[in-house]
Amino acid sequence: MKSNHIETKVLHAGIEPDPSTGAIMTPIFQTSTYVQEAPGKHKGYEYARTQNPTRDVLQKNLAELEGMKYGLCFSTGMGAVDTCIKLLNPGDEVVATNDLYGGSYRIFTTVFARMGIKFTFVDMSDLAAVQSAINSNTKIVWVETPTNPLLRIIDIEAISSLAHKVNAMCVVDNTFASPYLQNPVNQGADIVMHSATKYINGHSDVVMGVLCTSSDEIHEKLAFLQNTCGATPGPQDCFLVLRGIKTLHVRMQRHCENGREVANYLKNHSAVEDVYWPGFESHPNHAVAKKQMLDFGGMISFTLKNDSLDDAMKFLSSTKLFSLAESLGGVESLIGHPASMTHGAIPREERIKNGLKDSLIRLSVGIEHIDDLLADLEEAFISIG
Ligand SMILES: *Cc1c(COP(=O)(O)O)cnc(C)c1O
Repeated sequence: MKSNHIETKVLHAGIEPDPSTGAIMTPIFQTSTYVQEAPGKHKGYEYARTQNPTRDVLQKNLAELEGMKYGLCFSTGMGAVDTCIKLLNPGDEVVATNDLYGGSYRIFTTVFARMGIKFTFVDMSDLAAVQSAINSNTKIVWVETPTNPLLRIIDIEAISSLAHKVNAMCVVDNTFASPYLQNPVNQGADIVMHSATKYINGHSDVVMGVLCTSSDEIHEKLAFLQNTCGATPGPQDCFLVLRGIKTLHVRMQRHCENGREVANYLKNHSAVEDVYWPGFESHPNHAVAKKQMLDFGGMISFTLKNDSLDDAMKFLSSTKLFSLAESLGGVESLIGHPASMTHGAIPREERIKNGLKDSLIRLSVGIEHIDDLLADLEEAFISIG
């Protein structure tokens, strides 16, 4: 039975009991090669970089979660980004959002720029700026929404239609929203990318990347690159991500509920200057968020009224339930300081220009009891006086 409900898809899409044993859980095919009956005569599996049955199931499941035809998994999110940009040739151009994941910014500007691909970074809430950055050499328009760490929302539909005017692909990094909150294919995205390390796996125990597409032509090129460049995940990790996905909808609901409570608490706190969370009606992109997202997620950033780096540092080492760590999207709450952690690769001048103040603190609100989370934050505020 095919369902359109994500609550059913997470458990059943692409997943069948194992035909040889009836095992309800997809087995971990921990093998590097497959025995052939005669040269070239095999069961569809030759070598594990190219195909693995555990990975196949995960790839099918992810494709259905995104409402797309194909899914491909990579050993990390950056492996997925790397493979995606390898679709391009020297002289090709990429227009990307300026409020970008630090690792994506780094691979664009230090690796691919060196190989003759040009990157332009623009504020994608300004459609006129996007329009003027796009030209006939533009092959990819790279969207990340909600953005990191300022939680701006980019209108995927508007950007993908600008990209399609010059036959460029619209790629959406959907890591922050997860397939539960938005399916960018509905707004015209050609490729959806994920760091499955975050919400998709959700248990802070795997790193993995994903690319989904509905285009036969793009899929064929990406699958060629996946096998050729070799950033493929192991079967144990595929199993863990499949297991994590089974509760994606339940986790996301609680992330969103807790996120709403924490955002409102911060908004009313006297030591807080700005709170960045797309659920506020006063958020500049609230209307777009309402249009393309199911809810507003568990990612929140805020700044301190005095914008003191020292106070921010003290706050970061004072919370107990919010663990100080890079990453996001796991069941446990995390706290981070973008300027010195995730966005350390971006020069300060560039960072401040993009609105990332020194005291900016980012929260990945987990699924603990809300009262405990608020009490933890309150104690940290007390510690900075
Ligand atoms: C973490 C992350 C990545 C990179 O993924 P890894 O799994 O860490 O390699 C890319 N984009 C976003 C938005 C991320 O949060």
